[in-house]
Amino acid sequence: MSDNVVLRRTKILATLGPASESEEIIDSLVKAGVDVVRLNFSHGSPEEHKQRADRVRAAAKANNRTVGVLVDLQGPKIRTERFADGKVKLKVGAEFCLDAGLGKNDGDKTQVGITYKALPQDVKENDVLVLDDGRIVLRVTSVEGNRIHTTVVVGGKLSDNKGINLKGGGLSAEALTEKDRKDIKVAAEIEADFLAISFPRNAADVKLARTLLRDAGGHGAIVSKVERAEAMENIESIIDASDVIMIARGDLGVEIGDDQLPAVQKRLIKLARRMNRVVITATQMMESMISNPIPTRAEVFDVANAVLDGTDAVMLSAETAAGEYPVETVCAMARICRNAEQQLDAMRSQHRMNQMFERVDEAIAMATMYTANHLNVRAIAALTESGSTALWMSRISSGIPIYSLSTHQRTNRKVSMYRGVTPVDFPVIEENNHAAANQIAIDVLLNEGVVTDGDLVIITKGDLMGTGGGTNAMKIVKVGDMPKLAD
Ligand code: PGA
Ligand code: MN
Repeated sequence: MSDNVVLRRTKILATLGPASESEEIIDSLVKAGVDVVRLNFSHGSPEEHKQRADRVRAAAKANNRTVGVLVDLQGPKIRTERFADGKVKLKVGAEFCLDAGLGKNDGDKTQVGITYKALPQDVKENDVLVLDDGRIVLRVTSVEGNRIHTTVVVGGKLSDNKGINLKGGGLSAEALTEKDRKDIKVAAEIEADFLAISFPRNAADVKLARTLLRDAGGHGAIVSKVERAEAMENIESIIDASDVIMIARGDLGVEIGDDQLPAVQKRLIKLARRMNRVVITATQMMESMISNPIPTRAEVFDVANAVLDGTDAVMLSAETAAGEYPVETVCAMARICRNAEQQLDAMRSQHRMNQMFERVDEAIAMATMYTANHLNVRAIAALTESGSTALWMSRISSGIPIYSLSTHQRTNRKVSMYRGVTPVDFPVIEENNHAAANQIAIDVLLNEGVVTDGDLVIITKGDLMGTGGGTNAMKIVKVGDMPKLAD
């Protein structure tokens, strides 16, 4: 494993697309340090996504890495239909109509069709509709049957199939469309490690997605994309119902206003970590690298600031899916993350100092982090079944690497999203042979090149290895002394 991978704590989530689906590029992305790939079900066929997932897993295996797969459902993203000429130019002050009854290809400079047929019922006079991530803004003047009449407030070029958001939120669309329900089955078939739900309104939407995925036989962790104004009103219950949240800054920024995003990002990251949940910061992080080989200074700061805010993962969208420099973008992001992590603020923790713990394994995880941050420990090895010990540990800011050792590939792929945690496959240990388990754990760390003789490491595990939630012991050992230790 390269230094690139070992030393970075913040995880990189890269979206695959036409620019990054070849075996060669996928291999380069894995080598560059991608931890999780996103399959964006807003585009592409199930077959294409399956093939991409297969390629990612083959590349991960060939490179001796663990890479998770995230299926991102399209959700009720509302879009314009198409224009007869492919695009139009809208002038400020002009009248423009969104018509739920218009033919799919019949748009012109006065009107265009829309994918969500109930939109006319959801909007009223003076509502503001934002198209194409904010590039076009329309104010509703009246609604007549299927037709929404508007005045152009911000004009410009509008082309086919562009997103539509209602400023302030309030659209009634169900989070899970018919297409999403079919795609959940595909996610189960692909054995996706994460399923991301687009535009959930509340905890019920999240729970429904989880039920549908489990019913389809899928094991993936549930990711809630926070991208609706309503979601912010129900945020604690949404986080509680989710395993992971994504700060989906693209749609969220349109709904709540881009100037609200920095404060919301910081608040969501804190809240998610406090609630023992994982958090992804997404969208436009390295946007200019879609067509440039280096990032802007502003992008360098954005990624670094997300790291300092405490995000688990940073996400790339079009940069890797459709950009000219997918591999360079991942390398640049990795470099920025690694350097931001060297700031003392990123390593210190005041977490849970005044809190009671609820579970024994949680207490062990917390005691381990407290010890690791206060004793000169080189690494932590957490033998885990479900990954929950690694999750608790990773909620504490620290500079000490956490190795999550599981016999289950699913667990390893899930913890690949957790900040500071490096997953490594661990062999099944017969007859609860603790001395053997300790030795193998040390061997893993030696193999990874993170420890040498004389270093202190902390090992956590349960008396009964192979039982989920059973971690009840932490052990501090010196590398090289192990064979003499009876357990
Ligand atoms: P998307 O979600 O890329 O699927 O739109 C992320 C966002 O809205 O920021
Ligand atoms: Mn979105």
